[in-house]
Amino acid sequence: MLGRGLSHAAPECVSNNALKLLGLLAPAVIAQPEVWLDVDSESIPGRAVVRNRLDDRLRVDVSAAGVAYAHKCLYPLLPRIESGHVVGVTCGSDECRASIVIDATGIAGCLRRALSLDETVDSSPIWLRRGFASGCSSQSDTYWQIARGGWLWLRPTSAQYMWTSLSVQRNTHIGLRSGIFVIGTVWQQCRRWRHLHQAAGPGYFVCGDAAGYLDPASGDGLRFAIESGIRAGTLAAEVSKHPGRSSIAAALYSDWALQDYLATKEVLQRVYIDAHLDIWRS
Ligand SMILES: Cc1cc2nc3c(=O)[nH]c(=O)nc-3n(C[C@H](O)[C@H](O)[C@H](O)COP(=O)(O)OP(=O)(O)OC[C@H]3O[C@@H](n4cnc5c(N)ncnc54)[C@H](O)[C@@H]3O)c2cc1C
Repeated sequence: MLGRGLSHAAPECVSNNALKLLGLLAPAVIAQPEVWLDVDSESIPGRAVVRNRLDDRLRVDVSAAGVAYAHKCLYPLLPRIESGHVVGVTCGSDECRASIVIDATGIAGCLRRALSLDETVDSSPIWLRRGFASGCSSQSDTYWQIARGGWLWLRPTSAQYMWTSLSVQRNTHIGLRSGIFVIGTVWQQCRRWRHLHQAAGPGYFVCGDAAGYLDPASGDGLRFAIESGIRAGTLAAEVSKHPGRSSIAAALYSDWALQDYLATKEVLQRVYIDAHLDIWRS
């Protein structure tokens, strides 16, 4: 397993479906109090998490399970291709051969770029921001407001608030709620809704944001990343044992990833259209 081992100390909300998958995959992580920003409660859906703490803890679990994790920071990871098949990756002068490569490089999309994989871009650029907030408010539940120019999501955690916003414009004013103000770092990213036409092919599977990206209002990014990783890993193990099944495994995985993206997109698109929030490509 190769990676940069980097992620932001930004807040995210792990949906109930993602929590169920995490509980099956890495139960010890669920039990780590330093990962979570709130207590497990049936009355509030999902759980707030500090993203780099979750990722660090998952790496500890992966290593304890016997996976060799190597930090590769200095050079870009490039796929090695022979006769149209991905047969490993190179990183600078290091070469790592593998019968199957699983790409989970997020929005960087290493394989998409290197193999020029076909994709559809479904939205114009959107500006996403997130961070922490402090203050007092009569609002004790999750707050969600959507309008023509974007949306704001604000949620109390045990000690403070976490918030995420989308704007159709860059650098707009962040207006939280009365009595609540932004504290600390604000993380900003420009993204577009996009998905690969085929998220698997000869010698590779593409997971998570690298396979399909919708904005955080879907509430589903982590669930899709975890679930696609489980599916790709399971199919890769199957193909290693039975190489003759590689085409069917790639087709099954690609279809699942596409249908998952399209179903979530349809729901989100309806919410945006009702709010006259226009992020579609002109
Ligand atoms: C503002 C914002 C708020 C969000 N809030 C939520 C939320 O509340 N709930 C939710 O479920 N989802 C949320 N998401 C979405 C969620 O973060 C993503 O869907 C999820 O992180 C996808 O996981 P991933 O593993 O596919 O990609 P990532 O988490 O992006 O991981 C990719 C990893 O690959 C590494 N990498 C990239 N390129 C290379 C390379 N060349 N070589 C080696 N390593 C590389 C990166 O360093 C990174 O560690 C949010 C996203 C944003 C932008």
